Amino acid sequence: MKPVCARWPDMDKWNLIIDVAGCENCNNCVLASKDELVGNDFPGYTAPHPAQGRGVIHIERTVRGAAPLVDAAYVPKMCNHCDDAPCVKAGEDGAVRKRDDGIVIIDPVKAKGRRDLVDACPYGAIVWNDPLQLPQSWFFDAHLLDTGAGAPRCVGVCPTQAIEAVKLGDALMAQRVKTEGLRALQPELGTRPRVYYKNLHRADHGFIAGSVAATVGGRLECLEGADVALLRAGAQLATTVTDVFGDFKFDALPLHSGAYLVRVSHPDHGAIERPASVGADSVVLHDVELEAITQP
Ligand code: SF4
Ligand code: SF4
Repeated sequence: MKPVCARWPDMDKWNLIIDVAGCENCNNCVLASKDELVGNDFPGYTAPHPAQGRGVIHIERTVRGAAPLVDAAYVPKMCNHCDDAPCVKAGEDGAVRKRDDGIVIIDPVKAKGRRDLVDACPYGAIVWNDPLQLPQSWFFDAHLLDTGAGAPRCVGVCPTQAIEAVKLGDALMAQRVKTEGLRALQPELGTRPRVYYKNLHRADHGFIAGSVAATVGGRLECLEGADVALLRAGAQLATTVTDVFGDFKFDALPLHSGAYLVRVSHPDHGAIERPASVGADSVVLHDVELEAITQP
């Protein structure tokens, strides 16, 4: 890796930041990509993409929890423009190249017939164009950026501004990653992606949630304002307060992280403890019921 210094300045490169909490699964980004690429030839960048089949941007849905506390998250996925890309290594004869601005391009001429490149990507981001016998990926709309566009089309069509394209030096981008808690997909692969996500825990972590009720005037009612603490091995990890529906949630817990204890208390209704174990999915505690404390 080049050092950052006056001789080799930290040149600006493209990165994409996607907020999972902002994605509403409208598929505008998917359609804009298809609109741009299907049937259109951009020599040096891509051959026409097919109208049918999965596009080079797709949305993956994750559903966590159980009724009534269900959480659905949508993660837009595309080529990550990895800095240490297996596809670039597999296509080092010129079939795949990494530009100085970080963008990875599959050459529409040199990659012809290279089905092996589809398998080279560990993210499944390369799709096979069968009629043209070509591997194709989302190339950051580099043909637009190179003619003055400020961002790829997916950014402009997103109604919730969930996608942001930023051109930054690696040091400044690393600062954003740290301060905003951004994460890339499967960092353990060591590919160093340039597509980052906010709130990715909505897709790859679990939560413990529940609904608290109490007997008030002989009736069982949702209990707003109860204090809820999350404990693990005797240590308090987090606290929250039930909302108007009596609901609480502790999110971003690692899957398979095992045993926790939830303690619920209210000055008028006493306290209760419930164990919860996070495995492959989130935990919803039903019927967390407090009793009315009889005043002397
Ligand atoms: S356009 Fe925005 S909100 Fe719609 S699917 Fe894409 S990222 Fe999600
Ligand atoms: S996501 Fe896949 S296709 Fe894109 S640069 Fe990384 S390895 Fe290559």
